[in-house]
Amino acid sequence: RVKEYGRNNYRFYLPEMSSMALDRLDMEGNLRRALETDEFQVYYQPKVSLQQGTIVGAEALLRWMHPRIGQINPNEFIPLAEESGLIIPLGEKVIELVCRQIRAWREEGLPPLKVAINISARQFRQENLGETVRRLLEEYQVPGEMLDIELTESMVMHDTDHAALTLRELKDLGVTLSLDDFGTGYSSLSYLKRFPIDCLKIDRSFVRDINSNADDAAIASAVIAMAHSLGLNVVAEGVETAEQLALLRQHGCDEFQGYFFSRAVPAGDYALLLRQGKTLADAEAAPDGDLA
Ligand code: C2E
Ligand code: MG
Ligand code: MG
Ligand code: MG
Repeated sequence: RVKEYGRNNYRFYLPEMSSMALDRLDMEGNLRRALETDEFQVYYQPKVSLQQGTIVGAEALLRWMHPRIGQINPNEFIPLAEESGLIIPLGEKVIELVCRQIRAWREEGLPPLKVAINISARQFRQENLGETVRRLLEEYQVPGEMLDIELTESMVMHDTDHAALTLRELKDLGVTLSLDDFGTGYSSLSYLKRFPIDCLKIDRSFVRDINSNADDAAIASAVIAMAHSLGLNVVAEGVETAEQLALLRQHGCDEFQGYFFSRAVPAGDYALLLRQGKTLADAEAAPDGDLA
């Protein structure tokens, strides 16, 4: 019947070839092409110290500037990049763009603040991540101490031998390690002791309702206490209001990221925030979140 109605009608008869599937094929081709051009940009979201009230670093967040569609956020293309394997060259591109940027900032005389890079599961499993990071740090003359790698719990849980080796290689370069979206994944806490993790990032889902949901507040408080007793730093993600911040501060959280202080912004805008010396007091006087 497909032949009978001609090529253009096959979608009616093969429901599994939905328009979604076609979009995906299209998207994969687009991703492949975008890797060759300069359509990927890294945005930077400040990490702010609750004690000092100043910017102490940033998280690198990938943006795809598609010539027709416009800006595409990572949740829309990282899963496909993972499935297709394109995450390997794409992930390497991110590390390279960040190293190049750190180098440029240093030459502009900006303070040497850490940048965190997100690594996807397949990238962590497949790639020789330690070697890739080492090569790029060397190429751009960037000290390992200026990078933080964000991983998730499940990545560390699977194939623990490989994970241990990769984490060790990164640590030996001076790179620090953070567990992203903490609390949403596997809940075996033993690896926190087994692996050389430096920092836990409390997932945004616990921060969102922290002022109204007693369970979320209890989880956040327990994560902070546990992290501190293990000697780990704690970063809260997705802080949008002064009330959320107050509660996190009360529980002794070390750092936060969120619209309350700043969204992820282009490299030039992040450098401007550093030059202007934007502080928490500035955000409290005029929260970025109010502009949303
Ligand atoms: P993530 O690593 O947990 O990053 C935090 C996400 O929350 C970012 O979304 C950030 O823009 C957003 N966010 C920060 N503060 C707030 C806030 O106050 N409110 C709200 N509503 N959202 C906030 P983004 O940039 O869309 O990234 C989504 C996810 O995509 C990231 O989650 C990360 O898992 C992944 N990703 C981003 N860049 C990369 C990359 O270069 N490589 C890989 N493998 N994954 C990446
Ligand atoms: Mg992250
Ligand atoms: Mg996160
Ligand atoms: Mg997240």
